[in-house]
Amino acid sequence: MKITSKLPNVGTTIFTVMSLLSKEHQAINLAQGFPNFDCSPKLQDLVHHYTKKGFNQYAPMAGDLKLRQELCKKSERLYGLRPDPNSEITITAGATQALYTAISAFIKTDDEVILLEPAYDSYAPVVEICGGKVVPYTLKAPDYTVDWEKMRQLVSPRTKMIIINTPHNPTGSILTASDMEQLQTLTRDTDIIVLSDEVYEHLVFDGEAHQSVLRFPELWQRSLVTYSFGKTFHVTGWKLGYCLGPAPLMKEFQKVHQFNVFSVSHPQQRAIADFMESPEEYLSLANFFQQKRDFFLKTMEGSRFRPIPCKGTYFQLFDYSAISQEKDTDFARRMTAEYGVAAIPISVFYSDGRDDRVVRLCFAKTEEVLEEAGKLLREV
Ligand code: PMP
Ligand code: GLN
Repeated sequence: MKITSKLPNVGTTIFTVMSLLSKEHQAINLAQGFPNFDCSPKLQDLVHHYTKKGFNQYAPMAGDLKLRQELCKKSERLYGLRPDPNSEITITAGATQALYTAISAFIKTDDEVILLEPAYDSYAPVVEICGGKVVPYTLKAPDYTVDWEKMRQLVSPRTKMIIINTPHNPTGSILTASDMEQLQTLTRDTDIIVLSDEVYEHLVFDGEAHQSVLRFPELWQRSLVTYSFGKTFHVTGWKLGYCLGPAPLMKEFQKVHQFNVFSVSHPQQRAIADFMESPEEYLSLANFFQQKRDFFLKTMEGSRFRPIPCKGTYFQLFDYSAISQEKDTDFARRMTAEYGVAAIPISVFYSDGRDDRVVRLCFAKTEEVLEEAGKLLREV
């Protein structure tokens, strides 16, 4: 039988590849982004409670109502805009499904989608599956900022969507209020949809504020915004998240969502809804992870890895050009096998393979593990 692949150039994701390699070499896995510590026992008890209480059948298609209400309240509290829990939110199987559903609900053959590279790896393949064309905007080390005049030159009559991601994985950069205003101006009087991946909304450091699309009412009208409970409550294994958007866009989103998954795990949704009644749980995250970033940077002091400022996310980039001129994919493999610390090479997130000799390390780990990794890397 002849198989015609819809994704002929796609292999296994770098996260799977590096985690397997890390295991094989018994390295410290600072590659794939997940915490090595557990979620709150209170959250675990709530899941148990709702499982026992019989919340074991299908949740409503859009998600548990109480959870939707809590999330809409939270959006208003943080960003000044309250989506309608009945028509402007859907609970999804992680941000990954929200992104897949958002792209596939709107992108058709030959539509162009602009995205910021290095780009998280789950955007481009979905555009391709839908017959769309990716138009990359290249962010460059070390500051990874957007020049909106250059961005404007990428917009064509075929541009259907612009995907942004702030705080940005893998670079740790953030978009400012001025960036968001320029995006708002750029898309004014067009039919361009903005897909804003904000899974690290609570991980913004040094007193900066997260500039959500929700703070910009005109931009909101053309946007779908994705979030992940995995990042917010240290439960990446639950694969739960949500998508916000104005009713006309959310209606189209749900047309796909209902045939994509229909609905997602019910007891977990109920548990998160209760857990979210205490905002401290997510409001303390920026501090928590900023301390980890600073602890990690301290343990790396004196090493030949040069840190690139991290303003958000739980990823720290390092320039290793003082150590080696190897390709970053080779260097990341060697780091894992020889130095005992697994990392993610950044070139895999650029469609042209641009290689600035930079690797990404995840600092969502206990101080013990960060200390141990720092010790190994200081010796390199
Ligand atoms: N977007 C970005 C930028 C991510 O880093 C991730 C992975 N954590 C996701 C989306 C996917 O999130 P989830 O695990 O909730 O599917
Ligand atoms: N988002 C995580 C990261 O950037 C990994 C997600 C995955 O493994 N698919 O490391």
